[in-house]
Amino acid sequence: MATKATTAASTTGTGGAQKADYDAIVVGGGHNGLVAAAYLARSGARTLVLEARNKTGGAATTEAPWPDAPEFRVTRLSYVMSLLPPTIIKDLRLDHHGYKIFPMGPYYQAFPEGGSIKLYADDAKRNHAEVSKWSKKDADAMPRWDAWLAGLAEVLGPLLLTVPPNLGSRKPRDLKETLRLAWRNKNLNVRTIADVTRLMTMSIADLLDDWFESEQVKGALAVNGVIGTWAGPYEPGTAYVMAHHSIGDVGDGHLGNWGFQEGGMGAVADAIAMAARENGAEIRTDARVQKILLKDGQAKGVILDNGQQLTAKVVVTSLHPRTAFLDHVGRQNLPDDFVADIEHWKTRSGVVKINLALAELPDFTADPGTSLQEHHTGSVEMAPTMPYIERAFIEARDGQAATRPFSDGVIPTAFDKTLCPDGYHIMSLFTQWVPSDWNTEPHTEELAAYADRMIDCYNEVAPNFKSSILHRDIVGPYQMEHDYGLVGGNIFHGELSLEQLFHMRPAPGFADYRTPVPGLYYASSATHAGGGVCGIPGMQAARAAIADRRKLARRR
Ligand SMILES: Cc1cc2nc3c(=O)[nH]c(=O)nc-3n(C[C@H](O)[C@H](O)[C@H](O)COP(=O)(O)OP(=O)(O)OC[C@H]3O[C@@H](n4cnc5c(N)ncnc54)[C@H](O)[C@@H]3O)c2cc1C
Repeated sequence: MATKATTAASTTGTGGAQKADYDAIVVGGGHNGLVAAAYLARSGARTLVLEARNKTGGAATTEAPWPDAPEFRVTRLSYVMSLLPPTIIKDLRLDHHGYKIFPMGPYYQAFPEGGSIKLYADDAKRNHAEVSKWSKKDADAMPRWDAWLAGLAEVLGPLLLTVPPNLGSRKPRDLKETLRLAWRNKNLNVRTIADVTRLMTMSIADLLDDWFESEQVKGALAVNGVIGTWAGPYEPGTAYVMAHHSIGDVGDGHLGNWGFQEGGMGAVADAIAMAARENGAEIRTDARVQKILLKDGQAKGVILDNGQQLTAKVVVTSLHPRTAFLDHVGRQNLPDDFVADIEHWKTRSGVVKINLALAELPDFTADPGTSLQEHHTGSVEMAPTMPYIERAFIEARDGQAATRPFSDGVIPTAFDKTLCPDGYHIMSLFTQWVPSDWNTEPHTEELAAYADRMIDCYNEVAPNFKSSILHRDIVGPYQMEHDYGLVGGNIFHGELSLEQLFHMRPAPGFADYRTPVPGLYYASSATHAGGGVCGIPGMQAARAAIADRRKLARRR
Protein backbone atom coordinates (compact mmCIF):
# COMPACT_ATOMS: atom_id res chain seq x y z
CA MET A 1 0.00 0.00 0.00
CA ALA A 2 1.07 3.57 -0.57
CA THR A 3 2.11 5.35 2.56
CA LYS A 4 0.06 8.08 4.19
CA ALA A 5 2.56 10.67 2.97
CA THR A 6 2.06 9.82 -0.70
CA THR A 7 -1.74 9.97 -0.83
CA ALA A 8 -4.11 12.73 -1.77
CA ALA A 9 -6.54 14.03 0.79
CA SER A 10 -9.31 15.38 -1.43
CA THR A 11 -12.81 14.34 -0.39
CA THR A 12 -14.45 15.22 -3.69
CA GLY A 13 -12.86 12.71 -6.01
CA THR A 14 -14.72 11.86 -9.20
CA GLY A 15 -13.21 8.51 -10.08
CA GLY A 16 -11.26 10.02 -12.99
CA ALA A 17 -7.51 9.83 -13.51
CA GLN A 18 -6.73 11.97 -10.46
CA LYS A 19 -5.26 10.59 -7.30
CA ALA A 20 -7.72 8.56 -5.26
CA ASP A 21 -9.26 10.20 -2.22
CA TYR A 22 -8.14 7.26 -0.06
CA ASP A 23 -5.92 4.24 -0.35
CA ALA A 24 -8.67 2.06 1.07
CA ILE A 25 -12.38 2.45 1.72
CA VAL A 26 -14.08 -0.06 4.00
CA VAL A 27 -17.84 -0.42 3.58
CA GLY A 28 -19.57 -1.25 6.88
CA GLY A 29 -18.37 -0.44 10.38
CA GLY A 30 -19.26 -3.75 12.01
CA HIS A 31 -16.43 -5.40 13.90
CA ASN A 32 -15.05 -7.05 10.73
CA GLY A 33 -15.02 -3.78 8.80
CA LEU A 34 -13.24 -2.15 11.73
CA VAL A 35 -10.66 -4.94 11.94
CA ALA A 36 -10.00 -4.63 8.20
CA ALA A 37 -9.61 -0.86 8.58
CA ALA A 38 -7.25 -1.23 11.53
CA TYR A 39 -4.98 -3.59 9.60
CA LEU A 40 -5.10 -1.50 6.42
CA ALA A 41 -4.31 1.69 8.34
CA ARG A 42 -1.55 -0.13 10.21
CA SER A 43 0.04 -1.00 6.87
CA GLY A 44 0.22 2.71 6.11
CA ALA A 45 -2.89 2.96 3.94
CA ARG A 46 -4.99 6.08 4.25
CA THR A 47 -8.23 4.37 5.21
CA LEU A 48 -11.87 5.43 5.50
CA VAL A 49 -14.67 3.39 7.10
CA LEU A 50 -18.23 4.15 6.00
CA GLU A 51 -20.98 2.99 8.37
CA ALA A 52 -24.68 3.44 7.58
CA ARG A 53 -25.93 3.57 11.17
CA ASN A 54 -25.25 6.34 13.66
CA LYS A 55 -22.74 4.11 15.44
CA THR A 56 -20.23 1.42 14.58
CA GLY A 57 -20.28 -2.19 15.76
CA GLY A 58 -23.02 -3.76 13.62
CA ALA A 59 -24.18 -6.91 15.42
CA ALA A 60 -21.62 -6.24 18.19
CA THR A 61 -23.47 -3.39 19.86
CA THR A 62 -24.33 -2.13 23.32
CA GLU A 63 -27.49 -0.01 23.41
CA ALA A 64 -29.98 1.52 25.83
CA PRO A 65 -33.26 0.33 24.28
CA TRP A 66 -35.61 1.84 26.87
CA PRO A 67 -35.84 5.66 26.51
CA ASP A 68 -37.44 5.99 29.96
CA ALA A 69 -34.68 3.91 31.57
CA PRO A 70 -31.41 4.93 29.90
CA GLU A 71 -29.42 3.62 32.88
CA PHE A 72 -30.03 0.06 31.61
CA ARG A 73 -27.80 -0.95 28.70
CA VAL A 74 -27.95 -4.25 26.88
CA THR A 75 -25.71 -6.06 24.51
CA ARG A 76 -28.50 -6.04 22.01
CA LEU A 77 -27.64 -8.77 19.50
CA SER A 78 -24.42 -10.79 19.98
CA TYR A 79 -23.70 -11.34 23.65
CA VAL A 80 -20.61 -13.49 24.34
CA MET A 81 -17.00 -13.69 23.11
CA SER A 82 -14.81 -16.68 22.36
CA LEU A 83 -13.72 -16.70 18.76
CA LEU A 84 -11.50 -13.60 18.48
CA PRO A 85 -7.97 -14.99 18.00
CA PRO A 86 -5.07 -13.80 20.17
CA THR A 87 -3.24 -12.62 17.00
CA ILE A 88 -5.85 -9.92 16.42
CA ILE A 89 -6.02 -8.97 20.10
CA LYS A 90 -2.24 -8.54 20.11
CA ASP A 91 -1.78 -6.91 16.68
CA LEU A 92 -4.44 -4.30 17.43
CA ARG A 93 -3.48 -3.88 21.11
CA LEU A 94 -7.11 -4.40 22.03
CA ASP A 95 -6.26 -4.87 25.72
CA HIS A 96 -5.07 -1.24 25.70
CA HIS A 97 -8.34 -0.11 24.17
CA GLY A 98 -10.70 -1.64 26.71
CA TYR A 99 -10.99 -5.26 25.56
CA LYS A 100 -11.63 -7.04 28.85
CA ILE A 101 -13.33 -10.41 29.13
CA PHE A 102 -14.88 -12.05 32.19
CA PRO A 103 -14.82 -15.84 31.58
CA MET A 104 -18.33 -17.25 31.97
CA GLY A 105 -19.45 -19.67 34.62
CA PRO A 106 -21.01 -23.07 33.87
CA TYR A 107 -23.84 -24.08 31.57
CA TYR A 108 -26.89 -24.34 33.74
CA GLN A 109 -30.23 -25.97 33.01
CA ALA A 110 -33.03 -26.28 35.55
CA PHE A 111 -35.52 -28.93 34.46
CA PRO A 112 -39.30 -28.38 34.48
CA GLU A 113 -39.72 -31.81 36.09
CA GLY A 114 -37.26 -30.81 38.86
CA GLY A 115 -33.51 -30.93 39.36
CA SER A 116 -30.76 -29.16 37.45
CA ILE A 117 -27.40 -29.71 35.80
CA LYS A 118 -24.26 -27.60 35.60
CA LEU A 119 -21.49 -28.22 33.07
CA TYR A 120 -18.09 -26.63 33.55
CA ALA A 121 -15.60 -25.75 30.81
CA ASP A 122 -12.64 -26.47 33.06
CA ASP A 123 -13.50 -28.75 35.96
CA ALA A 124 -13.65 -32.48 35.17
CA LYS A 125 -14.26 -33.44 38.79
CA ARG A 126 -17.28 -31.24 39.26
CA ASN A 127 -18.60 -32.22 35.82
CA HIS A 128 -18.44 -35.85 36.90
CA ALA A 129 -20.46 -35.11 40.02
CA GLU A 130 -23.04 -33.07 38.09
CA VAL A 131 -23.50 -35.52 35.24
CA SER A 132 -23.65 -38.47 37.68
CA LYS A 133 -26.90 -36.96 38.99
CA TRP A 134 -28.43 -38.02 35.66
CA SER A 135 -26.26 -40.91 34.46
CA LYS A 136 -23.15 -42.53 35.88
CA LYS A 137 -22.32 -43.88 32.42
CA ASP A 138 -22.48 -40.37 30.94
CA ALA A 139 -20.32 -39.00 33.75
CA ASP A 140 -17.66 -41.57 32.89
CA ALA A 141 -17.95 -40.71 29.18
CA MET A 142 -17.53 -36.96 29.75
CA PRO A 143 -13.68 -36.82 29.98
CA ARG A 144 -13.43 -38.90 26.78
CA TRP A 145 -15.88 -36.54 25.05
CA ASP A 146 -13.85 -33.50 26.18
CA ALA A 147 -10.64 -35.12 24.93
CA TRP A 148 -12.31 -36.03 21.62
CA LEU A 149 -13.44 -32.43 21.13
CA ALA A 150 -10.00 -31.13 22.08
CA GLY A 151 -8.45 -33.43 19.46
CA LEU A 152 -10.81 -32.12 16.81
CA ALA A 153 -10.12 -28.55 17.85
CA GLU A 154 -6.44 -29.17 17.16
CA VAL A 155 -7.38 -29.95 13.57
CA LEU A 156 -10.14 -27.40 13.08
CA GLY A 157 -8.69 -24.51 15.09
CA PRO A 158 -5.77 -23.80 12.71
CA LEU A 159 -8.16 -24.14 9.75
CA LEU A 160 -10.01 -21.08 11.01
CA LEU A 161 -6.93 -19.00 10.26
CA THR A 162 -6.25 -20.74 6.95
CA VAL A 163 -7.22 -19.04 3.72
CA PRO A 164 -9.28 -21.72 1.92
CA PRO A 165 -7.62 -22.89 -1.29
CA ASN A 166 -9.50 -22.71 -4.57
CA LEU A 167 -10.24 -26.43 -4.75
CA GLY A 168 -10.49 -27.80 -8.29
CA SER A 169 -8.55 -24.96 -9.89
CA ARG A 170 -5.49 -26.00 -11.94
CA LYS A 171 -3.81 -22.61 -11.70
CA PRO A 172 -0.29 -23.06 -10.29
CA ARG A 173 -0.95 -20.71 -7.37
CA ASP A 174 -4.14 -22.56 -6.40
CA LEU A 175 -2.52 -25.97 -6.76
CA LYS A 176 0.33 -24.79 -4.55
CA GLU A 177 -2.11 -23.62 -1.86
CA THR A 178 -4.05 -26.91 -1.98
CA LEU A 179 -0.83 -28.89 -1.63
CA ARG A 180 0.33 -26.65 1.19
CA LEU A 181 -2.91 -27.35 3.09
CA ALA A 182 -2.52 -31.09 2.52
CA TRP A 183 1.11 -30.91 3.71
CA ARG A 184 0.17 -28.98 6.85
CA ASN A 185 -2.30 -31.76 7.68
CA LYS A 186 0.03 -34.61 6.79
CA ASN A 187 -0.02 -35.96 10.33
CA LEU A 188 -3.74 -36.68 10.28
CA ASN A 189 -4.41 -40.37 10.61
CA VAL A 190 -7.32 -42.55 9.48
CA ARG A 191 -9.02 -42.16 12.84
CA THR A 192 -8.84 -38.34 12.92
CA ILE A 193 -10.09 -38.04 9.36
CA ALA A 194 -13.00 -40.32 10.26
CA ASP A 195 -13.79 -38.14 13.28
CA VAL A 196 -13.72 -34.97 11.19
CA THR A 197 -15.95 -36.64 8.59
CA ARG A 198 -18.42 -37.60 11.30
CA LEU A 199 -18.39 -34.11 12.69
CA MET A 200 -18.99 -32.58 9.28
CA THR A 201 -21.79 -34.90 8.25
CA MET A 202 -23.69 -35.93 11.37
CA SER A 203 -26.50 -34.32 13.26
CA ILE A 204 -25.72 -33.20 16.79
CA ALA A 205 -28.48 -35.56 18.01
CA ASP A 206 -26.95 -38.63 16.34
CA LEU A 207 -23.46 -37.67 17.49
CA LEU A 208 -24.54 -37.23 21.11
CA ASP A 209 -26.52 -40.51 20.96
CA ASP A 210 -23.20 -42.22 20.20
CA TRP A 211 -21.72 -40.83 23.40
CA PHE A 212 -24.42 -40.30 26.01
CA GLU A 213 -27.69 -41.84 27.25
CA SER A 214 -29.31 -39.21 29.47
CA GLU A 215 -31.81 -36.85 27.79
CA GLN A 216 -30.80 -34.10 30.21
CA VAL A 217 -27.09 -34.35 29.41
CA LYS A 218 -27.73 -34.52 25.67
CA GLY A 219 -30.04 -31.50 25.84
CA ALA A 220 -27.37 -29.46 27.61
CA LEU A 221 -24.73 -30.38 25.01
CA ALA A 222 -27.02 -29.88 22.00
CA VAL A 223 -27.48 -26.12 22.26
CA ASN A 224 -24.22 -25.21 20.54
CA GLY A 225 -25.27 -27.35 17.56
CA VAL A 226 -28.31 -25.24 16.74
CA ILE A 227 -27.29 -21.71 17.76
CA GLY A 228 -28.14 -19.35 14.90
CA THR A 229 -29.00 -22.26 12.66
CA TRP A 230 -32.08 -22.89 10.56
CA ALA A 231 -31.93 -26.60 11.38
CA GLY A 232 -33.15 -28.76 14.22
CA PRO A 233 -30.78 -30.99 16.17
CA TYR A 234 -31.60 -34.01 13.99
CA GLU A 235 -30.37 -32.28 10.78
CA PRO A 236 -27.01 -33.37 9.32
CA GLY A 237 -24.35 -30.71 9.75
CA THR A 238 -25.45 -29.54 13.19
CA ALA A 239 -22.56 -31.49 14.76
CA TYR A 240 -20.20 -29.09 12.95
CA VAL A 241 -22.10 -26.04 14.26
CA MET A 242 -21.45 -27.38 17.78
CA ALA A 243 -17.73 -27.63 16.96
CA HIS A 244 -17.67 -24.08 15.54
CA HIS A 245 -18.95 -22.85 18.89
CA SER A 246 -16.65 -25.09 20.91
CA ILE A 247 -13.19 -24.46 19.51
CA GLY A 248 -12.53 -20.88 20.57
CA ASP A 249 -11.20 -19.81 23.91
CA VAL A 250 -11.31 -16.44 25.63
CA GLY A 251 -7.62 -16.38 26.29
CA ASP A 252 -7.80 -18.32 29.54
CA GLY A 253 -6.66 -21.52 27.85
CA HIS A 254 -9.98 -23.33 28.36
CA LEU A 255 -11.24 -24.66 25.09
CA GLY A 256 -14.81 -23.77 24.23
CA ASN A 257 -15.06 -21.28 27.06
CA TRP A 258 -16.94 -18.08 26.42
CA GLY A 259 -16.82 -14.75 28.17
CA PHE A 260 -18.53 -11.43 28.70
CA GLN A 261 -16.92 -8.23 27.47
CA GLU A 262 -17.05 -5.49 30.07
CA GLY A 263 -19.46 -2.86 28.73
CA GLY A 264 -21.14 -5.37 26.45
CA MET A 265 -20.26 -6.39 22.90
CA GLY A 266 -20.32 -2.76 21.75
CA ALA A 267 -17.15 -2.30 23.80
CA VAL A 268 -15.39 -4.93 21.63
CA ALA A 269 -16.28 -2.94 18.53
CA ASP A 270 -15.26 0.29 20.28
CA ALA A 271 -11.86 -1.21 21.16
CA ILE A 272 -11.31 -2.19 17.53
CA ALA A 273 -12.47 1.26 16.35
CA MET A 274 -9.95 2.86 18.72
CA ALA A 275 -7.22 0.65 17.28
CA ALA A 276 -8.24 1.64 13.75
CA ARG A 277 -8.18 5.34 14.67
CA GLU A 278 -4.87 4.94 16.51
CA ASN A 279 -3.43 3.58 13.27
CA GLY A 280 -4.79 6.57 11.37
CA ALA A 281 -8.11 5.36 9.98
CA GLU A 282 -11.02 7.76 9.60
CA ILE A 283 -14.47 6.48 10.57
CA ARG A 284 -17.68 8.09 9.34
CA THR A 285 -21.10 7.11 10.66
CA ASP A 286 -24.45 8.01 9.05
CA ALA A 287 -22.71 7.27 5.76
CA ARG A 288 -24.71 4.72 3.82
CA VAL A 289 -23.06 3.30 0.72
CA GLN A 290 -25.38 2.84 -2.23
CA LYS A 291 -23.04 1.50 -4.92
CA ILE A 292 -19.50 0.34 -5.46
CA LEU A 293 -17.91 2.63 -8.04
CA LEU A 294 -16.49 0.63 -10.95
CA LYS A 295 -14.21 1.75 -13.76
CA ASP A 296 -13.08 -0.63 -16.51
CA GLY A 297 -14.35 -3.51 -14.38
CA GLN A 298 -12.27 -2.49 -11.34
CA ALA A 299 -13.47 -1.20 -7.97
CA LYS A 300 -12.54 2.46 -7.71
CA GLY A 301 -14.55 3.70 -4.76
CA VAL A 302 -18.11 4.08 -3.60
CA ILE A 303 -21.20 6.21 -4.12
CA LEU A 304 -23.07 7.20 -0.96
CA ASP A 305 -26.84 7.44 -0.82
CA ASN A 306 -26.52 11.26 -0.76
CA GLY A 307 -24.82 11.02 -4.16
CA GLN A 308 -21.30 11.74 -2.94
CA GLN A 309 -18.54 9.78 -4.68
CA LEU A 310 -15.39 8.77 -2.86
CA THR A 311 -12.53 7.10 -4.66
CA ALA A 312 -9.96 4.62 -3.38
CA LYS A 313 -7.31 2.27 -4.67
CA VAL A 314 -9.00 -0.66 -2.96
CA VAL A 315 -12.46 -1.18 -1.53
CA VAL A 316 -13.23 -3.70 1.20
CA THR A 317 -16.88 -4.50 1.82
CA SER A 318 -18.08 -6.22 4.98
CA LEU A 319 -21.81 -6.35 4.18
CA HIS A 320 -24.13 -9.28 3.70
CA PRO A 321 -23.32 -10.89 0.30
CA ARG A 322 -26.70 -10.03 -1.24
CA THR A 323 -26.17 -6.34 -0.40
CA ALA A 324 -22.46 -6.26 -1.18
CA PHE A 325 -22.66 -7.98 -4.56
CA LEU A 326 -26.19 -7.97 -5.95
CA ASP A 327 -27.12 -4.44 -4.78
CA HIS A 328 -23.81 -2.61 -4.60
CA VAL A 329 -21.79 -4.16 -7.45
CA GLY A 330 -24.76 -5.22 -9.59
CA ARG A 331 -25.51 -8.52 -11.31
CA GLN A 332 -24.49 -7.11 -14.70
CA ASN A 333 -20.94 -6.56 -13.43
CA LEU A 334 -20.44 -10.07 -12.05
CA PRO A 335 -19.95 -13.52 -13.61
CA ASP A 336 -23.24 -15.45 -14.01
CA ASP A 337 -22.04 -18.39 -11.87
CA PHE A 338 -21.12 -16.08 -9.03
CA VAL A 339 -24.47 -14.27 -9.24
CA ALA A 340 -26.27 -17.63 -9.08
CA ASP A 341 -24.19 -18.67 -6.04
CA ILE A 342 -25.05 -15.47 -4.20
CA GLU A 343 -28.73 -15.73 -5.18
CA HIS A 344 -28.78 -19.26 -3.75
CA TRP A 345 -26.97 -18.22 -0.57
CA LYS A 346 -28.93 -19.54 2.43
CA THR A 347 -29.56 -16.86 5.02
CA ARG A 348 -32.35 -17.91 7.37
CA SER A 349 -32.27 -18.49 11.12
CA GLY A 350 -35.54 -17.61 12.89
CA VAL A 351 -33.68 -16.09 15.85
CA VAL A 352 -35.31 -13.68 18.30
CA LYS A 353 -33.21 -11.81 20.82
CA ILE A 354 -35.00 -10.86 24.05
CA ASN A 355 -33.21 -8.43 26.36
CA LEU A 356 -34.51 -7.95 29.88
CA ALA A 357 -33.88 -5.60 32.79
CA LEU A 358 -34.45 -7.51 36.04
CA ALA A 359 -35.21 -6.26 39.53
CA GLU A 360 -33.64 -9.42 40.97
CA LEU A 361 -31.91 -12.62 39.87
CA PRO A 362 -33.96 -15.70 38.94
CA ASP A 363 -34.80 -17.79 42.00
CA PHE A 364 -34.63 -21.36 40.71
CA THR A 365 -36.69 -23.98 42.56
CA ALA A 366 -33.84 -26.46 42.01
CA ASP A 367 -31.20 -24.02 43.33
CA PRO A 368 -33.01 -21.44 45.44
CA GLY A 369 -32.00 -17.88 46.21
CA THR A 370 -31.89 -14.47 44.55
CA SER A 371 -28.38 -13.68 45.72
CA LEU A 372 -25.69 -14.19 43.09
CA GLN A 373 -24.68 -17.86 42.81
CA GLU A 374 -22.53 -19.79 40.40
CA HIS A 375 -25.47 -20.97 38.29
CA HIS A 376 -26.29 -17.33 37.46
CA THR A 377 -22.83 -16.69 36.02
CA GLY A 378 -22.82 -18.77 32.83
CA SER A 379 -25.42 -19.87 30.29
CA VAL A 380 -28.80 -20.01 31.95
CA GLU A 381 -30.40 -22.34 29.46
CA MET A 382 -33.90 -23.31 28.47
CA ALA A 383 -33.18 -26.32 26.31
CA PRO A 384 -33.99 -29.21 28.60
CA THR A 385 -33.97 -32.07 26.09
CA MET A 386 -33.31 -32.82 22.43
CA PRO A 387 -37.03 -33.43 21.64
CA TYR A 388 -37.83 -30.04 23.25
CA ILE A 389 -35.37 -28.29 20.91
CA GLU A 390 -36.55 -30.30 17.90
CA ARG A 391 -40.20 -29.44 18.54
CA ALA A 392 -39.36 -25.73 18.53
CA PHE A 393 -37.73 -26.10 15.12
CA ILE A 394 -40.47 -28.27 13.58
CA GLU A 395 -43.15 -25.78 14.60
CA ALA A 396 -41.23 -22.88 13.03
CA ARG A 397 -40.49 -24.86 9.88
CA ASP A 398 -44.23 -25.54 9.63
CA GLY A 399 -44.88 -21.79 9.73
CA GLN A 400 -45.67 -21.17 13.39
CA ALA A 401 -43.47 -19.58 16.09
CA ALA A 402 -42.32 -22.14 18.66
CA THR A 403 -44.81 -22.77 21.45
CA ARG A 404 -41.95 -23.47 23.83
CA PRO A 405 -38.87 -21.80 22.34
CA PHE A 406 -35.37 -22.75 23.39
CA SER A 407 -33.08 -20.12 24.84
CA ASP A 408 -29.40 -19.60 25.47
CA GLY A 409 -29.69 -17.10 28.32
CA VAL A 410 -26.94 -15.10 30.02
CA ILE A 411 -26.75 -12.58 32.85
CA PRO A 412 -23.61 -10.53 32.07
CA THR A 413 -24.21 -8.32 35.11
CA ALA A 414 -23.14 -11.26 37.27
CA PHE A 415 -19.68 -9.77 36.53
CA ASP A 416 -20.12 -6.57 34.61
CA LYS A 417 -21.14 -3.66 36.82
CA THR A 418 -21.20 -1.11 33.99
CA LEU A 419 -24.48 -2.07 32.35
CA CYS A 420 -27.07 -1.16 34.96
CA PRO A 421 -27.47 0.32 38.45
CA ASP A 422 -26.34 -1.68 41.46
CA GLY A 423 -28.80 -4.30 42.65
CA TYR A 424 -30.40 -4.76 39.21
CA HIS A 425 -29.50 -7.14 36.41
CA ILE A 426 -29.56 -7.49 32.65
CA MET A 427 -30.51 -10.83 31.15
CA SER A 428 -30.12 -11.61 27.50
CA LEU A 429 -32.08 -14.46 25.91
CA PHE A 430 -30.92 -15.75 22.53
CA THR A 431 -34.00 -17.69 21.42
CA GLN A 432 -35.16 -19.85 18.51
CA TRP A 433 -37.29 -20.34 16.43
CA VAL A 434 -39.82 -18.22 14.60
CA PRO A 435 -40.63 -18.96 10.93
CA SER A 436 -37.79 -18.17 8.55
CA ASP A 437 -39.85 -15.64 6.58
CA TRP A 438 -40.49 -13.35 9.56
CA ASN A 439 -37.83 -11.07 8.11
CA THR A 440 -40.42 -9.79 5.62
CA GLU A 441 -42.92 -8.37 8.16
CA PRO A 442 -42.43 -6.97 11.70
CA HIS A 443 -44.83 -9.54 13.33
CA THR A 444 -44.83 -7.28 16.40
CA GLU A 445 -47.78 -8.81 18.25
CA GLU A 446 -46.76 -12.40 17.52
CA LEU A 447 -43.24 -11.62 18.75
CA ALA A 448 -44.66 -10.22 22.00
CA ALA A 449 -46.69 -13.44 22.47
CA TYR A 450 -43.59 -15.52 21.65
CA ALA A 451 -41.59 -13.58 24.27
CA ASP A 452 -44.40 -14.14 26.82
CA ARG A 453 -44.17 -17.89 26.20
CA MET A 454 -40.39 -17.84 26.47
CA ILE A 455 -40.61 -16.01 29.79
CA ASP A 456 -43.27 -18.50 31.00
CA CYS A 457 -40.84 -21.37 30.30
CA TYR A 458 -38.26 -19.78 32.62
CA ASN A 459 -40.97 -18.93 35.13
CA GLU A 460 -41.80 -22.65 35.47
CA VAL A 461 -38.33 -23.31 36.86
CA ALA A 462 -37.75 -19.91 38.55
CA PRO A 463 -41.14 -18.68 39.82
CA ASN A 464 -39.99 -15.10 40.52
CA PHE A 465 -38.82 -14.60 36.96
CA LYS A 466 -41.86 -12.99 35.36
CA SER A 467 -42.48 -10.59 38.22
CA SER A 468 -38.81 -9.53 38.28
CA ILE A 469 -38.89 -8.13 34.72
CA LEU A 470 -38.79 -4.32 34.65
CA HIS A 471 -38.29 -3.77 30.93
CA ARG A 472 -38.07 -5.98 27.89
CA ASP A 473 -36.75 -5.49 24.38
CA ILE A 474 -37.55 -7.92 21.56
CA VAL A 475 -35.47 -7.94 18.37
CA GLY A 476 -36.86 -10.24 15.69
CA PRO A 477 -35.70 -11.13 12.16
CA TYR A 478 -37.41 -8.11 10.52
CA GLN A 479 -35.58 -5.65 12.76
CA MET A 480 -32.31 -7.56 12.36
CA GLU A 481 -32.62 -7.22 8.60
CA HIS A 482 -33.94 -3.66 8.39
CA ASP A 483 -32.02 -1.96 11.21
CA TYR A 484 -28.79 -3.97 11.15
CA GLY A 485 -28.46 -5.25 7.55
CA LEU A 486 -28.67 -8.93 8.59
CA VAL A 487 -30.54 -10.09 5.49
CA GLY A 488 -33.04 -12.89 6.22
CA GLY A 489 -32.37 -12.34 9.93
CA ASN A 490 -29.41 -14.72 9.78
CA ILE A 491 -26.99 -13.85 12.55
CA PHE A 492 -23.88 -14.84 10.58
CA HIS A 493 -24.63 -13.15 7.19
CA GLY A 494 -25.37 -16.69 6.01
CA GLU A 495 -26.00 -20.13 7.41
CA LEU A 496 -23.16 -22.31 8.65
CA SER A 497 -24.49 -25.21 6.60
CA LEU A 498 -21.98 -27.62 5.05
CA GLU A 499 -22.38 -26.29 1.50
CA GLN A 500 -21.54 -22.79 2.78
CA LEU A 501 -18.33 -23.56 4.65
CA PHE A 502 -14.60 -23.18 3.96
CA HIS A 503 -13.89 -23.05 0.19
CA MET A 504 -17.61 -22.49 -0.48
CA ARG A 505 -17.94 -19.39 1.73
CA PRO A 506 -19.29 -17.17 0.17
CA ALA A 507 -18.90 -18.86 -3.24
CA PRO A 508 -16.59 -21.42 -4.85
CA GLY A 509 -13.52 -19.76 -6.33
CA PHE A 510 -13.88 -16.70 -4.08
CA ALA A 511 -13.16 -17.93 -0.56
CA ASP A 512 -9.79 -16.14 -0.42
CA TYR A 513 -11.38 -12.81 0.58
CA ARG A 514 -11.04 -11.59 -3.03
CA THR A 515 -14.05 -11.11 -5.32
CA PRO A 516 -14.71 -11.31 -9.06
CA VAL A 517 -14.11 -7.52 -9.18
CA PRO A 518 -10.41 -6.59 -9.07
CA GLY A 519 -9.75 -4.13 -6.27
CA LEU A 520 -12.80 -5.28 -4.26
CA TYR A 521 -12.18 -7.45 -1.18
CA TYR A 522 -14.69 -9.22 1.02
CA ALA A 523 -14.55 -9.11 4.83
CA SER A 524 -18.00 -10.16 6.06
CA SER A 525 -19.04 -12.99 8.34
CA ALA A 526 -20.13 -14.70 5.12
CA THR A 527 -16.49 -15.61 4.45
CA HIS A 528 -14.49 -18.46 5.99
CA ALA A 529 -14.12 -18.34 9.81
CA GLY A 530 -17.26 -16.19 10.04
CA GLY A 531 -19.67 -15.91 11.64
CA GLY A 532 -19.24 -14.77 15.10
CA VAL A 533 -17.30 -11.88 16.55
CA CYS A 534 -13.96 -13.31 15.45
CA GLY A 535 -12.51 -10.55 13.25
CA ILE A 536 -10.82 -13.14 11.04
CA PRO A 537 -12.65 -12.14 7.82
CA GLY A 538 -11.63 -8.51 8.41
CA MET A 539 -8.00 -9.42 9.03
CA GLN A 540 -7.79 -11.78 6.02
CA ALA A 541 -9.44 -9.35 3.61
CA ALA A 542 -7.02 -6.62 4.65
CA ARG A 543 -4.08 -8.99 4.27
CA ALA A 544 -5.24 -9.97 0.76
CA ALA A 545 -5.60 -6.31 -0.24
CA ILE A 546 -2.21 -5.39 1.20
CA ALA A 547 -0.50 -8.37 -0.49
CA ASP A 548 -2.04 -7.56 -3.88
CA ARG A 549 -1.04 -3.89 -3.69
CA ARG A 550 2.50 -4.85 -2.75
CA LYS A 551 2.67 -7.29 -5.66
CA LEU A 552 1.40 -4.60 -8.01
CA ALA A 553 3.93 -2.12 -6.70
CA ARG A 554 6.77 -4.65 -7.19
CA ARG A 555 5.67 -5.31 -10.77
CA ARG A 556 5.67 -1.58 -11.49
C1 LIG B 1 -28.85 -11.95 17.80
C2 LIG B 1 -27.40 -12.28 17.52
C3 LIG B 1 -26.64 -12.92 18.47
C4 LIG B 1 -25.31 -13.26 18.21
N1 LIG B 1 -24.55 -13.78 19.21
C5 LIG B 1 -23.22 -13.91 19.02
C6 LIG B 1 -22.38 -14.18 20.14
O1 LIG B 1 -22.83 -14.23 21.27
N2 LIG B 1 -21.05 -14.34 19.91
C7 LIG B 1 -20.51 -14.23 18.65
O2 LIG B 1 -19.30 -14.41 18.50
N3 LIG B 1 -21.30 -13.93 17.58
C8 LIG B 1 -22.62 -13.75 17.74
N4 LIG B 1 -23.42 -13.35 16.71
C9 LIG B 1 -22.84 -13.24 15.37
C10 LIG B 1 -21.98 -12.01 15.23
O3 LIG B 1 -22.54 -10.95 15.93
C11 LIG B 1 -21.83 -11.63 13.75
O4 LIG B 1 -21.37 -12.75 13.01
C12 LIG B 1 -20.84 -10.50 13.59
O5 LIG B 1 -21.06 -9.48 14.55
C13 LIG B 1 -20.93 -9.91 12.21
O6 LIG B 1 -19.91 -8.95 12.07
P1 LIG B 1 -19.61 -8.27 10.67
O7 LIG B 1 -18.69 -7.16 10.92
O8 LIG B 1 -19.21 -9.32 9.69
O9 LIG B 1 -21.02 -7.73 10.16
P2 LIG B 1 -22.03 -6.72 10.85
O10 LIG B 1 -21.88 -6.69 12.29
O11 LIG B 1 -23.37 -7.06 10.29
O12 LIG B 1 -21.55 -5.32 10.28
C14 LIG B 1 -21.92 -4.83 9.03
C15 LIG B 1 -22.07 -3.32 9.18
O13 LIG B 1 -22.37 -2.75 7.91
C16 LIG B 1 -23.32 -1.71 8.11
N5 LIG B 1 -24.01 -1.48 6.84
C17 LIG B 1 -25.04 -2.18 6.31
N6 LIG B 1 -25.38 -1.67 5.12
C18 LIG B 1 -24.53 -0.64 4.90
C19 LIG B 1 -24.38 0.27 3.82
N7 LIG B 1 -25.15 0.22 2.73
N8 LIG B 1 -23.41 1.21 3.90
C20 LIG B 1 -22.59 1.28 4.99
N9 LIG B 1 -22.71 0.44 6.04
C21 LIG B 1 -23.67 -0.51 5.98
C22 LIG B 1 -24.21 -2.25 9.20
O14 LIG B 1 -24.93 -1.20 9.83
C23 LIG B 1 -23.19 -2.91 10.12
O15 LIG B 1 -22.69 -2.00 11.06
C24 LIG B 1 -24.74 -12.97 16.94
C25 LIG B 1 -25.49 -12.27 16.01
C26 LIG B 1 -26.82 -11.92 16.28
C27 LIG B 1 -27.61 -11.16 15.25
